[in-house]
Amino acid sequence: MESLERLPVSETIRFAYPKKTKPVTVTGPNCELNCAHCGGHYLKHMQPIDEMTAADSSPSWLVSGGCQADGAVPIGEHIARLAELKQGRRYNMHVGLVSDAEIDMLAGVADCVSFDFVADNATIQDVFGSGRKVEDYIRCYQSLRRKVRVMPHICIGLNGGEICGEYRALELLRELGAETLTFIIFMPTRGTRFADRKPPSLVAVAEILSSARLMFPDIPIHLGCMRPGGRYREDIDKWAVRIALNSIVNPAPAAVALAERLGLKITRGEECCVL
Ligand code: SF4
Repeated sequence: MESLERLPVSETIRFAYPKKTKPVTVTGPNCELNCAHCGGHYLKHMQPIDEMTAADSSPSWLVSGGCQADGAVPIGEHIARLAELKQGRRYNMHVGLVSDAEIDMLAGVADCVSFDFVADNATIQDVFGSGRKVEDYIRCYQSLRRKVRVMPHICIGLNGGEICGEYRALELLRELGAETLTFIIFMPTRGTRFADRKPPSLVAVAEILSSARLMFPDIPIHLGCMRPGGRYREDIDKWAVRIALNSIVNPAPAAVALAERLGLKITRGEECCVL
């Protein structure tokens, strides 16, 4: 008999409003890579590490920064300072393609690492121009996993809104193993090379989220903070509720209302979705 696939039904959903996780950049507003989708724009809204003190009251920090030309955040030189500032707070580190030596250092301070997993060579070239390949992402992901909790992030439509390596990323992560998955969605950003592009179609995004849910029925899947706003967000967030994702960051009110109407048990958090 033909087997029937259905979405696993979860009775709980978490809505995260990560205002208690402070975004900190180790390179200030600077980024050598100047990626097509970001152009360093998002660093401007982060707190430079030089201005941080141990007296900061946030229970967690998202530590990131601009990348060097090879796609790695220069984290090694800041590890000692981060260790000094930690004071019991938790760090979600976003560090790009770091070396094994840096991973060893990172493991001493990171509570988890958010890792952008990219599985298409043309996308890596078009968006980052870093000269890296999918193999580099696989190698770095594996090295990170040996030392620290890794939270892979897949940006749907990263290549200017086109769907390129997203399904390949899911297949690879199924082979390599993943304890959680976070999806973010490309959004055109003013002043960047992809400013005039469109977000990926809602149907394409919903198909990827559904495939992920079916391929990974037992791990938490998050819809992360970076995604388009307005009507688009309302629609995709409602899809995410129906597809039984485990958490949604800064959900559209309509998605919260839908979860309530469906009788889901709702929990709320105030930190990064993976912490
Ligand atoms: S997607 Fe989740 S883990 Fe990544 S930065 Fe946003 S809230 Fe934090």
